[in-house]
Amino acid sequence: VGLVVALTGGIGSGKTTVAERLADLGAGVIDTDEIAHALTGRDGAALDPIVAAFGPQILRPDGTLDRARLRGIVFTDPSARARLEAILHPRIEAVMLERLAALQTDYAVLVIPLLFETSQERHADRVLVVDVPEPLQIARVRQRSGLSETEVRRIIASQIPRHERNARADDLIDNSGTLTDLDAQLQTLHLNYIRLAAERAR
Ligand code: ATP
Repeated sequence: VGLVVALTGGIGSGKTTVAERLADLGAGVIDTDEIAHALTGRDGAALDPIVAAFGPQILRPDGTLDRARLRGIVFTDPSARARLEAILHPRIEAVMLERLAALQTDYAVLVIPLLFETSQERHADRVLVVDVPEPLQIARVRQRSGLSETEVRRIIASQIPRHERNARADDLIDNSGTLTDLDAQLQTLHLNYIRLAAERAR
């Protein structure tokens, strides 16, 4: 690929939506959440190290990861969170770089929800941030997940503040409108990325 774009944004801002629509336009998309899910799924490469770190109680009777239990542990225990991240992050990164090397598209979009929180900008030539005002963010997350407003606010508070994230963007998408409004912005962005990729290839 000629250009690597890291795509980030707060919870429920529309990262997945943007990534899917850029993929439809021809971008190569790599979603790190999906990689994390696969690594911790049945036969996932992170499963054995997680059991070694957290004990066999972290598995359900059918041998799959008890995700709710693990979430509960790392939510209340920062050192447990650090141990989980030490297992997951290098493995996610390795899979991501492997997939990136195999892409044949003009440019790549790496979906990295906690891009700044985990200092992963080094993998990207540009940073694309999807932005929505907080009330809309809360409404969309609640509509999708059934979380309470308090729970959504707690997650938002654990992420980088909106103005700091936006300040670090090379490209900013406003996802407060309709999907038609979104697509108009993505058309322009896509052409820009193609042009930048071509420039870099010269
Ligand atoms: P997460 O951080 O939880 O992974 P995300 O940033 O990937 O979320 P999406 O899943 O793309 O966000 O979007 C959140 C919700 O808002 C979804 O239900 C999606 O369908 C909806 N949504 C996204 N963009 C719009 C829009 N422009 N208009 C209406 N609904 C939207």
